[in-house]
Amino acid sequence: MLTDVIIIGGGAAGLCSAVYLKQKRPDITVRILESGTRVGKKLALTGNGRCNITNKSLDLSHYHGNDVGFCRYALERYDRKFTEEFFRTIGVPFVYEEKKGYPASLQAASVVDSLRFAAENSGVITHLETKVTNIKIFDGKYRVISENFNFLAENLIIAAGLLSGGERLGCDGGMLNLLEKSGFKTVKTTPAIVQLKTVNDITKQLKGIKINAAATLKSGGKVIRSEYGEVLFCDYGLSGPPILQISREVSRTKESYEISLDLFPDTDFDSLFADLKKRAEALCYRNLDEFFTGMLNKRLGQVILKIAGCRLTDKAESLNDAILRKTAALLKNFTFSVTGTTGFLNSQVTAGGLDTSQVCKKTMEFFDNKGLYAVGEILDIDGDCGGYNLQWAWSSAFCAADGIIDNKPKIANNP
Ligand SMILES: Cc1cc2nc3c(=O)[nH]c(=O)nc-3n(C[C@H](O)[C@H](O)[C@H](O)COP(=O)(O)OP(=O)(O)OC[C@H]3O[C@@H](n4cnc5c(N)ncnc54)[C@H](O)[C@@H]3O)c2cc1C
Repeated sequence: MLTDVIIIGGGAAGLCSAVYLKQKRPDITVRILESGTRVGKKLALTGNGRCNITNKSLDLSHYHGNDVGFCRYALERYDRKFTEEFFRTIGVPFVYEEKKGYPASLQAASVVDSLRFAAENSGVITHLETKVTNIKIFDGKYRVISENFNFLAENLIIAAGLLSGGERLGCDGGMLNLLEKSGFKTVKTTPAIVQLKTVNDITKQLKGIKINAAATLKSGGKVIRSEYGEVLFCDYGLSGPPILQISREVSRTKESYEISLDLFPDTDFDSLFADLKKRAEALCYRNLDEFFTGMLNKRLGQVILKIAGCRLTDKAESLNDAILRKTAALLKNFTFSVTGTTGFLNSQVTAGGLDTSQVCKKTMEFFDNKGLYAVGEILDIDGDCGGYNLQWAWSSAFCAADGIIDNKPKIANNP
């Protein structure tokens, strides 16, 4: 049976395009084919279960891809306000914490449920446990082959995501491989918004400690990106919001990288040295294992002093200028060699994907395949941590839905 629109993938972008399509054209048939046992498995985990759904500052500097300008139209035409209005219609008002937008319920699962209820109510037909294994173009229409059934569609939206979160969330990247084999251009995929593995003898000793620091990713001494926030030491390396935010470049190139942590970003080196000198004089009676007690995490302070060459059983009066300078330098530039990332399974988004040069930026339709659209993460666009990836999923989904509606001859059931 011919369906007006088939959507491969019942994730953020697929659900959004289905509901929006039916809001604007209740008369057309829309089917979602989802490989998992439920729709929106990944969406339900976003934002630590709270779903950071958008951001007040959708500046392009927060987006990445070979042609980042590709996403400008979508993000401006279907901006945060447009998205907020759409979600209001399905019962999800937004609240903001600084610039980050969340559903007022602060529950990601409620966003999935609201999209699901709206889809069901408007007549979207959802086929669960239906993994698409092939797509064939047949007389200007799309034959979609799944493990169970075959479908025929006038319009096909590919909203199958990429690799982040791993197979447990239905993200095996198989759809991109299929499209690549069929001749579509792709850009290398790598994990982004991901923890970094480092040479870990020190991080292992500090495992579990969280500190506020300015984290800077460097390559050959060149600063790539710097972010401030809570860094977490782990047995494999480093995690925490600033690390996730600066992680993208690490697996994009073969260069070697290091992370420098500035534990006192508001104090310059000379002032920090002077402060430590005064502290050593005032607390000369303390053993060095307690020297930083009250100023810095105790275990971290001990590790820093050991690296600076101190014996922790000595008294603070033993600290001379040379050691205090070395200690201040370590506190300002605590450096770790990066050995990689913790991979796709732990990443929040995948960089790379379908090359956007094949796709119309206003409608997400492939130039050479009328009626074929791609939305969300599968395209070579990825955003920073902070609601940018979901906003891309929503904005690109609205583009494709309106593209289909405006492309009237491709809709079989035209009124
Ligand atoms: C733990 C975690 C937390 C995150 N938190 C945030 C956040 O707070 N804010 C934010 O902006 N972004 C966040 N992200 C990123 C965000 O979730 C993604 O960018 C977004 O979900 C991408 O939407 P999508 O619809 O393109 O892909 P997905 O949501 O991945 O959906 C793709 C769907 O397609 C299905 N599928 C795949 N292949 C097939 C096939 N062959 N046949 C049928 N179905 C198929 C999958 O099962 C899946 O349901 C987070 C990601 C993770 C992993």
